[in-house]
Amino acid sequence: MCAPSLTQLPVVPRPARDERLSSWLNRLAQFYAMPINVFLADCGLNRNGAAALEWRLGEGEGAILACRTGMTVEALRTMTFEKIAPQARLMIAPGNRYVCPGCPAGIHPKRRAFPWNFWCREHNLRLAASGGRNLEEWFPETVLALLDFSAHDGAMRLADWAHGRDEGVPSVPQLLDFLTTRHRKSSPPSLAEQPILSLEARRANHDFLTRPIARQALLIVVPEYDRVAPVLAKPVRAGLLSLAQGSLLQNFALTAGLGRMSTDPVGYAAMVLWASDGEGEHRLRQALRGWPLALRRRIYGRFQRLNRIEAQASHATGWRSLTNSDSPSLTITLGESHNHARDRRPSP
Ligand SMILES: [Zn+2]
Repeated sequence: MCAPSLTQLPVVPRPARDERLSSWLNRLAQFYAMPINVFLADCGLNRNGAAALEWRLGEGEGAILACRTGMTVEALRTMTFEKIAPQARLMIAPGNRYVCPGCPAGIHPKRRAFPWNFWCREHNLRLAASGGRNLEEWFPETVLALLDFSAHDGAMRLADWAHGRDEGVPSVPQLLDFLTTRHRKSSPPSLAEQPILSLEARRANHDFLTRPIARQALLIVVPEYDRVAPVLAKPVRAGLLSLAQGSLLQNFALTAGLGRMSTDPVGYAAMVLWASDGEGEHRLRQALRGWPLALRRRIYGRFQRLNRIEAQASHATGWRSLTNSDSPSLTITLGESHNHARDRRPSP
């Protein structure tokens, strides 16, 4: 029952599908030409702002809002993020992370707050960076189609994790820690990463050409990203922050990387170890410490096998390509210049 003082607003535009509470409240306030805090106070909700209400709608607050809008408390609750596990809350952006060209600008769906959702289900369109490029501009169509499979696997896992239903091993935070570990020492942009510059321009851009760039495991797990990402924007933040604060391109690569590592943790972890230098290997082993012992044994076994294959291949000149029989998805290219740090590696 509503208190007599709480009359329903004369007109209440319905929330859009999957719209988050703060988005809808802001639209209502705009509709009544009021600043949001004045609107909330007018509704009898003067203790919390719209952002706080969508984290957790208190019993009394839900009842008041239900009376004022004619919605049920249950329907209002589905517009909040109360089901999101505490460790995943840093993933929720205050508004839409990416943009759908077909969606109205003022509506913010809940899914759009998370960094791993790259499609608008409503319009079946790929989302673009706000004011920036979209993924089709970075990746050729065939590459993007393949990455989509991995990104889909990664996004499913991340969504489960955010709702506290993921029991996969290694866990999502462990995989992100691994993906963002520096597997090699930082190094300046390689020739392939540099734009073509005149001698004069090279002198003028000396700082750029000599700046050390962090080299993270992500570049090995998702080499497609390594090939297209602007060199200065290649490094991502560590662990969960990588996704929480990443760009569209970075988050797509991280989600695809997470999907790949979820499918084949042994194959990909061993490949990153194999591509590492001495210091990087030490850091990777630290990151692997929390992984189950049986899994680590398989990873180090695979790693040793890769080294043996490399030793056999080193007699030949030029490039070789090995297909990993246990992980057909992994084709590993061996090159003399690629793995020059291996001789400094401590034994596993
Ligand atoms: Zn849309």
